[in-house]
Amino acid sequence: MAKQTVPVKKNETITLTFEDLTHEGNGVGKINGYPLFVPNALPGEEATVKVVKVNKNFGFGKLIELRNVSTERVDPTCHVNCNGCGLQHMSYKLQLEMKQNQVKNAMKKIAHLEHIPVHPIIGMEDPLHYRNKVQIPVGEKNGELITGFYQKRSHRIIENTETCTTHNKTINEVVKAIRAIANKLGIKAYNEEKHSGVLRHIMVRTGNATNEIMVVLVTRTEKLPNKEIVIKELIETFPTIKSIVQNINDKRTNVILGKKTKVLWGEEYIYDRIGDLSFAISAKSFYQVNPEQTKVLYDKALEYAQIGSSDVVIDAYCGIGTISLFLAQQAKRVYGVEIVPEAISDAKKNAKLNGITNAEFFVGGAEKVMPWWKAQGLNPDVIVVDPPRKGCDEELLKAMIDMGPKRIVYVSCNPSTLARDLRILEDEGYETKEVQPVDMFPQTGHVENVCWLEKKVSN
Ligand code: SAH
Repeated sequence: MAKQTVPVKKNETITLTFEDLTHEGNGVGKINGYPLFVPNALPGEEATVKVVKVNKNFGFGKLIELRNVSTERVDPTCHVNCNGCGLQHMSYKLQLEMKQNQVKNAMKKIAHLEHIPVHPIIGMEDPLHYRNKVQIPVGEKNGELITGFYQKRSHRIIENTETCTTHNKTINEVVKAIRAIANKLGIKAYNEEKHSGVLRHIMVRTGNATNEIMVVLVTRTEKLPNKEIVIKELIETFPTIKSIVQNINDKRTNVILGKKTKVLWGEEYIYDRIGDLSFAISAKSFYQVNPEQTKVLYDKALEYAQIGSSDVVIDAYCGIGTISLFLAQQAKRVYGVEIVPEAISDAKKNAKLNGITNAEFFVGGAEKVMPWWKAQGLNPDVIVVDPPRKGCDEELLKAMIDMGPKRIVYVSCNPSTLARDLRILEDEGYETKEVQPVDMFPQTGHVENVCWLEKKVSN
C-alpha cells in the first residue's frame, strides 16, 4: 500500500474549508483527504488556520481568521474560555443537529443499526442557565482566594466563571458570595503542589422546584476557620439555603469529594420535586443536572418501559431512586441497585417520603448484584439501566441477558458505549426498537439517549 504523505507541516498557515464537525464540536476540513480538526470553526466556513499538531492520519489547527462566516454562527453568551461548553459559538439548531448526527453515526458505525429509528433530539426552549449543580475549584492569586474552572489539560484556574450561562443564576450568586466571605475571613485556598491550605472546592446544588440550596465546602482540613461566621453570613444572604455541609478531603487527589461529610448547619439534604414525586438529595448522591430535561428523559423512559401492574422491574444504577420510584407507581415491585451508599440511603428515604412501599434498594456494584439476584431466582419483566459514561460492564450485560426480561430500557449519557452495548444485546436476542436523544447538556458536546429494546420472539 502506498504510504500516505501528510500534506501539511506543523506551524504552517493554510486556508481551509470546513465541511463537518467532530462530536466535540471541532470543525473538520480536509487537505488532499487529510483531516484537520479546528476548534471554533463551523461547516461551510473558510478560514486561515495555523497547523498546530500533525499526526499520521489527522491533525489539529488553530483558527486565525475567518474568511466567511456561517449563518449558524452566533455570538457566544459567555466569553470566558473555561472549556466547560464547547458549542457556544453554534446556533442551538446546529448544536442539536450535530448531536443528532453523533447518535445516528454511533448507531450505524458501532452498533451496526443504521435502520433503527433515531427520533429527532428533544431540545430545550431556553438552552441557558439550566444547571442545578456546580463543583468549582478554589485557588489563590496574589494572596487572594479565587474560584473558577480549570483551563483545558491544566489546573490553572480561569476566574470570573460566575458569569456562566449554563449554571442557574442562584448558583453563580452563591459561589460569588462564598468567595467574598472566605476572602474577608482569610480562609486559605488549598494549594495542590504543597498540599496545604484549606478550601479545595465549592459545591452548590439547588432544588429547581423548591428553590432550596445546598452548599458543600470541600476542605483539606477538619477545621474550617471562622465556621460560625461563614454559616451566619451565608444563611443571612440566602434565606433558601437549607443545608451547609463540610466535606473533608485530605488526600492528594483529583477526586473532588473525600470520604467524610459533616453537616455544619441545617439538614443533610435538600429537596426537589420531579412531576408528582419529591426527592431528598444528599451531598454525595448523583442527581440529574438539568431539571427541565430530566422530566422529559424520565417520561420517555417510562413510556418505553410500558410497565404493567404485575411487572417486576430492576432499576440498575438507580442513584437516589428517581426512576425507580416512578416505575414503582406502575409496577408490582421494583428493585434498585446503586454503588454509592449515601444515594441508596436517600433512595430509601425517598420511597418513604412518597409513600411508596413496593421499591427496595441495594448498595453494590450493579455488575455484582445483578448476577447474584439472578442466582437468587429474580427474573424481572423489565430492566432499566442508566450507567455512567463507560456504559454497562460485561458481567452486567450477561446477567441481564440471563435474566431474559421482555423489555430493556437503556438510558445513556454516552452514545459510543450505548451503541457498543446495544450491539451485544442485539446479538444475544434483543431488538432495539427506538432511540430518543434528549439534550440534557446544551452548549456542550454531551448528549443523552433513552433507548427501547424488546426480547426477540424465538421460533
Ligand atoms: N438513574 C439515576 C442515576 C444515573 S447516574 C438518575 O437518573 O438520577 C449513574 C449512577 O450509577 C450514579 O448514581 C453512580 O453512582 C452509579 N454507579 C456508578 N457505577 C456503578 C456500579 N458499578 N454499580 C451501580 N451503580 C453505579
